[in-house]
Amino acid sequence: CGIVGIVGNKPVAERLVEALKRLEYRGYDSAGVATIHDSHLDRRRAEGKLFNLETRLAAEPLPGDIGIAHTRWATHGVPNETNAHPHFVDGVAVVHNGIIENFAEIKEALIAEGANFITQTDTEVVAQLLAKYRREGHGRREAMHKMLQSVTGAYALAVIFNDDPSTIMAARSGPPLAIGYGDGEMFLGSDAIALSPFTNRITYLHDGDWAVIGKAGAHIFDLAGNPVERPVQISSATA
Ligand code: GLU
Repeated sequence: CGIVGIVGNKPVAERLVEALKRLEYRGYDSAGVATIHDSHLDRRRAEGKLFNLETRLAAEPLPGDIGIAHTRWATHGVPNETNAHPHFVDGVAVVHNGIIENFAEIKEALIAEGANFITQTDTEVVAQLLAKYRREGHGRREAMHKMLQSVTGAYALAVIFNDDPSTIMAARSGPPLAIGYGDGEMFLGSDAIALSPFTNRITYLHDGDWAVIGKAGAHIFDLAGNPVERPVQISSATA
């Protein structure tokens, strides 16, 4: 399973799939990619191999200069297209590797408040919580911070919001997650190998870190919301 993201200055869909191919060795049962174009979220997803996703994208190309993508190794919910990531809830798109341990209690509480769940995954609570906090009037960054304080378990997460086509938010607790510094573009990936076609300048998030990634760089915070500095390293992974 794996995660990639690009805050780009040219189309990202093909490049996201190229990066996912470098994470195929981790195993997966479905895959998907989401972008923002014309101020709305759009996505293509497919069960099975990345070839199926590429076939979908060839038939229905996905424009957009910002996007996130995912290979899923299902833990909660069968591996079908509905349960494939990215998940969309009210203008929020989420990809996740790992397990949200307290998803059942969060889901129950959200359903009691009237939330309408679309998938069978544990991941959907992340998207539902972000959408709820946005509806309640919290800013995107604040919504992300509140969501991270609500969920427990293991996660690498990437999030985009339809009302901000220049930012990816990311978080790590357990599975590795790396930020890549490009030329006027920024990248996110499960490892440096995934990002090696684009850059070798890599910052690894520490456990509990979350990041706000724009075209010009990244701001990284700890779980309490304090800014933290993480070194940029030169990766020897080759493209
Ligand atoms: N637990 C999530 C799901 O089943 C993410 C699985 C993964 O790591 O790909 O959808």
